[in-house]
Amino acid sequence: MAHQYERISGKLLIDGQWRDSDRREPNRNPSDLSDVVGDYAWASVAQAEEALAAARRALPGWSRSNVQFRSDILRRAGDAILARADALALLLAREEGKLLRDARGEVMRAAQICHFFSGECLRPPGRFLPGLRDGFNVIVEHEAVGVVALITPWNFPIAIPAWKAAAALAFGNTLVLKPSEITPGCAVALAEILIEAGLPAGVFNLVNGAGVDLGETLIDGADAVSFTGATPTGRKVLERAARTMTKVQLELGGKSPLVVLGDADLDQAVDAALDGAFRQTGQRCTASSRLIVVDELHDAFVERLAAKVAALKVGHALDEANDLGPVTTEVQLAKDLHYIETAKREGGELLSGGDVLERPTQGYYLAPALFANTTNAMTLNREEVFGPVVGVIRVADLDEAIAVACDADYALSSAICTRDIAAAERFRRASRAGMVVINGSTSGADYHAPFGGRAPSGYGSREQGAAAADFFTEIKTTYVNHGVLPAGGSNPAVKF
Ligand code: NAD
Repeated sequence: MAHQYERISGKLLIDGQWRDSDRREPNRNPSDLSDVVGDYAWASVAQAEEALAAARRALPGWSRSNVQFRSDILRRAGDAILARADALALLLAREEGKLLRDARGEVMRAAQICHFFSGECLRPPGRFLPGLRDGFNVIVEHEAVGVVALITPWNFPIAIPAWKAAAALAFGNTLVLKPSEITPGCAVALAEILIEAGLPAGVFNLVNGAGVDLGETLIDGADAVSFTGATPTGRKVLERAARTMTKVQLELGGKSPLVVLGDADLDQAVDAALDGAFRQTGQRCTASSRLIVVDELHDAFVERLAAKVAALKVGHALDEANDLGPVTTEVQLAKDLHYIETAKREGGELLSGGDVLERPTQGYYLAPALFANTTNAMTLNREEVFGPVVGVIRVADLDEAIAVACDADYALSSAICTRDIAAAERFRRASRAGMVVINGSTSGADYHAPFGGRAPSGYGSREQGAAAADFFTEIKTTYVNHGVLPAGGSNPAVKF
């Protein structure tokens, strides 16, 4: 059976029921604004409260369900995502403007994540310790946190909901997902898939709508909130969560440095910069958004990168001939243009791009902008742009490169291109970022490894891989007095 998402009529999922609301909002394809991708019920505060209540009712059953039962559901969900990969990728490309081939990659990643956490159901963390008091054992168990709220951004509209939801479900939590109001279609599709995979009613609930309207309700009513989005929004989430002491995990913005040393493989370094700074229209939290290049290679690097940036084909996300799709929203396009103007005013030399482009369909098209002669003090290099707008910073040597790389208000990812293993190791040790890449771009991550940054790029424990258990479980230590005394030496120690 073909699964198409021609024009989604998105509903809320509350307690296993698809529900409408008084307010519906459309979203449009940023490659072609005449293409309405879907229209979606926006939840009221009362409906968000209902969703939380449904998750609360479902919690005792789900958290104590057989792990094979949970594992099978996640495996079937991953299989269903693979079976519908083409249709899902088309939906994703239409709603976010991500190139179809990148959208396919993201859909595959969502499936792989479901399969990974299907396995994690059967590998829960936990320990057994011999007790220090004679006749006791100690069980260290990781149990579900409870009802979790998942709040997600628009730039990975299926992978991020999948990696939060699959981890939450694997460890026995029930949840309410609030996807970005800009790209809710993929979340609706994911919810359908999970329900068809056999998830009991109330375990997974979906509410669409603006974070400013629903955020506080979700934070107040949940036991834990896993949030991905901009740093200022994350700060608000943290402040609100402090009132109820709701457990918080924040994955936030970045200003990630890519350092290029004089001995780097020039082609590799240029490709890393092109990929990290511009691919996916620069709309990645881990984007290589500061290019720090040592004097010795600077001119050759800039010349080659500028030529490649100028050659990037910007256009409709469904046209496989293009290298970059549109910017996702009008607001983001205005932000990109603001940073381009600011960089020019502050003395940056625009080598390529920076103009709004006209294409056969009306969309938010921007020629990727590369600046030279920028300093780390310029606004362009201090603030997160979240678009295809990047500056090159010239430095004298490794010491200055490290100093500049570390002088940032973010700490998500960092990278260095060099053939010198000692230099790479010095950089790795000095970096404050949560992730370091040697000879590659700052972007890209493996789903079986911890993902995230230090404040203010992140707060709380890491996502993905085995690290996901840190957030989605709470530790319970149980002392069992079985009364069998040691056959050998006993512990004369005191009770504590
Ligand atoms: P955003 O902060 O505007 O929105 C993210 C989510 O928060 C949306 O669902 C939104 O509705 C909700 N929200 C808005 N106000 C809220 C409030 N007051 N309380 C609770 N929720 C609220 O971010 P965005 O524009 O959707 O996404 C881009 C940002 O996300 C960038 O800064 C990017 O770096 C970051 N990001 C980080 C990661 C990461 O893993 N570190 C990954 C992807 C994106």
